Amino acid sequence: MFTKSIKKKFVTIVGGGISGSEAALQIASRGIEVILYEMRPNKMTPAHRTGLLAELVCSNSFRSTELTRAPGVLKAELELLGSKLLSFARDCSIGAGISLAVDRVQFSERVNKEIESHPLIEVRRKEVVSLPEERPLVIATGPLTSKAFYNSLMDFLGGSDRLYFYDAVAPLIFKDSIDMTKVFKASRYGKGEGTYINCPMNREEFEVFYETLINAEKHPLEIEREEKYFEACLPLEEMARRGKETLLYGPLKPVGLVDPRTGKLPYAVVQLRQDDACGSLFNMVGFQTNLRYREQERVFKIIPGLNRARFARYGKMHLNTYINSPQLLNPDLSFKKDPGIFFCGQITGAEGYIEAMATGLLAGINASLRIRGKETLILPETTITGSLIRYITNTEHTNFQPMHGSFGLLPPLNKKYKKKERFLLYAERALRDLKAFLENIKDCYN
Ligand SMILES: Cc1cc2nc3c(=O)[nH]c(=O)nc-3n(C[C@H](O)[C@H](O)[C@H](O)COP(=O)(O)OP(=O)(O)OC[C@H]3O[C@@H](n4cnc5c(N)ncnc54)[C@H](O)[C@@H]3O)c2cc1C
Repeated sequence: MFTKSIKKKFVTIVGGGISGSEAALQIASRGIEVILYEMRPNKMTPAHRTGLLAELVCSNSFRSTELTRAPGVLKAELELLGSKLLSFARDCSIGAGISLAVDRVQFSERVNKEIESHPLIEVRRKEVVSLPEERPLVIATGPLTSKAFYNSLMDFLGGSDRLYFYDAVAPLIFKDSIDMTKVFKASRYGKGEGTYINCPMNREEFEVFYETLINAEKHPLEIEREEKYFEACLPLEEMARRGKETLLYGPLKPVGLVDPRTGKLPYAVVQLRQDDACGSLFNMVGFQTNLRYREQERVFKIIPGLNRARFARYGKMHLNTYINSPQLLNPDLSFKKDPGIFFCGQITGAEGYIEAMATGLLAGINASLRIRGKETLILPETTITGSLIRYITNTEHTNFQPMHGSFGLLPPLNKKYKKKERFLLYAERALRDLKAFLENIKDCYN
């Protein structure tokens, strides 16, 4: 392995996923050296499939780009903050209506190349099993942190209870196995390019699918005592258990998807989103699942158009771990008892790819400021990023659960508005406040 000569002052990062990669590039772009530990491909997590840095474990979507949606505002904030991974994602984007979706291999290869070839970053491919002594230290080992490291972290953090929840990935299907005579291409409400493949169901077809789904067999859970899920990303069978409406208003909702062959809205629709640049793979949108593989074959082949589907990947459930951030972290993402340590990504309870970029970006900048003896940054709470970090570090939580960036976390406006207008005003305020904040700190930002 190529070892670059690292000087005295460097930042150590554990975990080369989304947040750790963003942190590494932020630190190196400020002229500071980085040692980045990544255990893959020598030791794999249960969900990653490659040794590439910043691998996307499930969906290939970074969600909406619209400013009336929190992920859209979060992306606009990331752009102002100079996120490296977001710019790579744009370079590797593939059509997905109003969402930013990427070719997952191109995206991770790009991040890998930028990091491996960076003169100030040394990548060490090994599992870290105990807490490194070097400071500043950024911990970005994600929801699938290796067991040995998680145990050592828990001892160091003060042995609080293991916090966990279950998260699942959705299946991937080969396009050439989809019966295109039974499906139609369209984006919801005709927004963006029509690159989704839609599998329409009438009422009878939906009923058969539903009955088969709720009676299908699941894999056993790793921790049996309680099935804790992330509410914004429930497994399909759990949604079905809560009722038909949960599916019909959730992943199978037909609104905005008129079937051009009938001129009508189907009763239910399963959407498939392109997953790679050449369009050979499609992701079953919202179909994250813990069904046994043979059951996925049986249940999903009932869906019109998928009767002969070949699966490039089955859905799978994973135990996700995170730390008790409200008790342990400051709003600059440093550890209260040792501010030379920063945490970022999903291990903090900030849930999602772009949230991992945002927290990785802040942890990286703050580790750089710490090495230079400067004051660290706390982002304005009127921004999606700032409000999310305020949420995960708010000491008043009694039952801390992971959270996406959301308009619901923002301080209210001074007047009541209708939903769409309110969301646009939130977006305007977030971007205005962030620009003013960055203008104020521009001397120490770079
Ligand atoms: C099964 C599953 C599906 C998900 N699906 C989605 C989705 O569709 N959309 C979405 O927005 N979010 C999803 N998430 C949530 C989250 O956004 C991703 O997990 C995201 O990758 C988190 O980024 P991260 O940097 O925190 O962790 P990761 O990207 O997982 O990076 C952590 C890295 O640390 C490495 N590592 C772990 N332990 C060690 C160690 N001891 N030493 C060295 N290296 C180590 C790992 O190999 C990994 O590369 C999903 C999570 C899971 C677990």
